[in-house]
Amino acid sequence: MSKAVGNIYIVVAPSGAGKTSLVAALLQAEPTVELSVSYTTRAARTGEEDGKHYHFIDHTAFQSMIAAGDFLEYAEVYGNFYGTSVRWLQSRLEAGRDILLEIDWQGAEQVRKVFPDAVGIFILPPSIEELERRLRGRGTDSEEVILRRLASARSEIDKVAEYDYIVVNDDFERARVDLISIFRARRLRAEVQTRRLAQALARMGVQRG
Ligand code: GDP
Ligand code: ADP
Ligand code: 5GP
Repeated sequence: MSKAVGNIYIVVAPSGAGKTSLVAALLQAEPTVELSVSYTTRAARTGEEDGKHYHFIDHTAFQSMIAAGDFLEYAEVYGNFYGTSVRWLQSRLEAGRDILLEIDWQGAEQVRKVFPDAVGIFILPPSIEELERRLRGRGTDSEEVILRRLASARSEIDKVAEYDYIVVNDDFERARVDLISIFRARRLRAEVQTRRLAQALARMGVQRG
């Protein structure tokens, strides 16, 4: 049996860099990519829907899921717990789908231990000052939460060199196209294309090795 063809993409960014906005734009342009919906103990923000943005659960339920081995990875981020469902991910990968994980750097390290081929993408803000402007401009978080997230930004950015791709989110449209380009280029690799185009290549007389 041929191996599953699904790829894992991990998108990491300091809070406020534009990760959620860019991922939403990517999913619109590349509808076959599937976003993993994480479990979290964080309270829902205004406008966030349970099951769509996150599965919102309490601490007790989160601990039970850890004990049951339900998470591929989990981490405490800015005082709340976040985790990725292992069952959902496995089933989508087996179906050959490309999966996108919007997780923090600790989770990214855990996932790459299990899936060394996972593609790491870091979204970099143009500056710390702009990051602060965006976090405040978003208007979804308290002052305390904003300060806590900003305090972590520098140490998160320190890890940028560990990623396969870096997208600077200065001009949104440019960053959007950069992000989409990563997915398109990965799908154009000969290894992927020879499999997808097997019949057409056979008709052209190409023998697969
Ligand atoms: P925002 O991404 O800054 O808008 O804020 P959130 O509260 O939604 O997320 C806070 C952090 O938790 C971000 O760095 C997310 O990438 C991360 N995060 C979300 N889901 C998961 C997850 O399932 N696992 C891990 N490890 N981190 C997650
Ligand atoms: P994250 O998910 O990384 O925390 P968001 O996607 O919520 O970030 O973006 C944070 C804020 O910055 C949002 O209000 C968003 O609309 C805004 N934003 C995102 N990208 C840009 C950009 N290129 N220029 C200006 N504002 C942006
Ligand atoms: P939302 O992300 O909820 O759609 O938009 C929140 C606010 O951020 C809106 O005022 C929106 O116009 C602004 N915004 C979202 N993306 C960008 C962007 O790429 N560039 C700029 N300058 N503003 C943005």
